[in-house]
Amino acid sequence: MGIKDTFHRKPSLSYDCPHCGERLKSPLMDAGTEDTCPHCHQTFAVPGENEKQEYEKEKQAHQDKRAAEQDAKYKAQAERRAKERAVDPFFREQQESDEKQAITQRRAASEAFEKACPAGWFPLAMVVVGVLIFFFFAFV
Ligand SMILES: [Zn+2]
Repeated sequence: MGIKDTFHRKPSLSYDCPHCGERLKSPLMDAGTEDTCPHCHQTFAVPGENEKQEYEKEKQAHQDKRAAEQDAKYKAQAERRAKERAVDPFFREQQESDEKQAITQRRAASEAFEKACPAGWFPLAMVVVGVLIFFFFAFV
């Protein structure tokens, strides 16, 4: 008996027919089921139930290990991101003061604009433009 296997391919088991000794090969998952020898045409129980259990156990262990590796990878990634996010406090202070400055500048600019163009300025301009257009069509 010998198991040929990777966890990605279907494992198979080689053994000798209990009746005629012919070399046979079955999928490991068939262990414990009945089969007929293609050589002597006698039925027999496919061996390898222990191997099958062993295989299942190893496969589970392999999957658990992969899952643990994946978890560790995600954890490391999360930690790295958290570290990146926790910016140097002085840098953050600078950023905040820059933002405040930008807001102050914007406010000052809009106040200056309002001072230069009071609310009454716009309708007046529209009236002037309207009059100009009227004269343009009336006399040209
Ligand atoms: Zn046989």
